[in-house]
Amino acid sequence: MTTPTARKVLLAAPRGYCAGVDRAVIAVEKALEQYGAPVYVRHEIVHNKYVVKTLEKKGAIFVEETAEVPEGNIVIFSAHGVAPVVHEEAARGRLATIDATCPLVTKVHKEAVRFAKEDYDILLIGHEGHEEVIGTSGEAPDHITLVDGPEDVANVEVRDESKVVWLSQTTLSVDETMETVDALKGRFPNLLSPPSDDICYATQNRQTAVKQMGADADLVIVVGSKNSSNSVRLVEVALGAGARDAHLVDYAEELDEAWLEGVSTVGVTSGASVPEILVEGVLEWLAQRGFADVEVITAAEESITFSLPKELRRDLRAEA
Ligand code: SF4
Repeated sequence: MTTPTARKVLLAAPRGYCAGVDRAVIAVEKALEQYGAPVYVRHEIVHNKYVVKTLEKKGAIFVEETAEVPEGNIVIFSAHGVAPVVHEEAARGRLATIDATCPLVTKVHKEAVRFAKEDYDILLIGHEGHEEVIGTSGEAPDHITLVDGPEDVANVEVRDESKVVWLSQTTLSVDETMETVDALKGRFPNLLSPPSDDICYATQNRQTAVKQMGADADLVIVVGSKNSSNSVRLVEVALGAGARDAHLVDYAEELDEAWLEGVSTVGVTSGASVPEILVEGVLEWLAQRGFADVEVITAAEESITFSLPKELRRDLRAEA
């Protein structure tokens, strides 16, 4: 391996946990403390392997469907949100529910309900099969059409071109979404935009930070799981910003020495569902290979927090 002279790490800020993930993870932990194990969680509470394994060790049981939860138990809905039909299934199974849907996802659900009531055709920009998209679509299945990127736009059909609105998944690439919106506007000039951005502040801030460091980095390492939409987007944004190479890893153990060949600057960031301990592992691995000099690239300050799900707050209060 050739040895470049100055070796440096650019560390993106903000990175890692967003307010919605923090709230969802704490909700599971508090539920375990409050009600005792097991506590059932429908789908991965957040898309991160390490977080899921850690909660499993504490007594959480992750299930794919509400029907798998034995009658009379507690089930927590993940940060990605669920369709109304899932709440109905839980009620039929006599399950107590804690809804850890991120409030910013709930906001998109409410927009979908409102526009459906006003009889709009809703074009939901998002990735097919993603849990958040399934949940949002379930709010108004007869009014929502999924648009999975600009290449999907030509196939979109609506009932009335004068009554069309777009909404989006919260964790998309900001730039690609605007490309899709532009293409949609080309087809539907009266297309209405949502009252405020659906792509959440955390997704936007993490992408801005990666853009800032991407141009100066030979290699960008994004810590995150493969099923984490916002983490996958960070890899794409890094490459788009000019990074020569970019990789998504769950843990430091997945890093490959060969990636450092000819590299003098490594950018490091993490998705919104990633605990900082995993980034620390990556920084340690890099430091052991001569990349001990770390410069923080700050794109924004974040101070948003969300209160715990109301069902949990109620029970915690009753206990106090
Ligand atoms: Fe909420 Fe955004 Fe975090 Fe998703 S990425 S949980 S929408 S704050």
